[in-house]
Amino acid sequence: MSCVFCKILKGEIPSEKLYEDEDMFIIRDIDPKAEKHYLMIPKRHYKLIADMTKEDGLAFQRAIRKIPTLTENLGLQSGYRLVINQGDDAGQTVFHLHVHILAGQPLDFPDLRKK
Ligand code: AMP
Ligand code: ZN
Repeated sequence: MSCVFCKILKGEIPSEKLYEDEDMFIIRDIDPKAEKHYLMIPKRHYKLIADMTKEDGLAFQRAIRKIPTLTENLGLQSGYRLVINQGDDAGQTVFHLHVHILAGQPLDFPDLRKK
């Protein structure tokens, strides 16, 4: 298994875990796209929302509901955006489901259509 997030979870790639519980861990994105850019990564490896088991769904619900309790620790008080890239058009590059947490500045919401 050559998944970078599984390797981080196992400690095979060093990374500072800003938060961790039985369901997920949170790290800083190595290539930030906003002043604050974190990744919330479920511990179990699966690629897509479509691949979630019922248990994965329950773990994901717990994980996503944890984020608002971490606003002070992560500096999300002024708001934040969650992004989940799924598949080719979204440009998913790591095939282990993860939630981008973007914050720390006003966040553009660009019109991506080709004009
Ligand atoms: P996505 O394009 O949605 O699949 O997002 C994958 C994200 O993982 C990208 O924003 C990368 O910058 C990030 N990433 C890849 N490798 C690492 C790493 N070793 N530590 C932290 N973030 C990483
Ligand atoms: Zn993985």
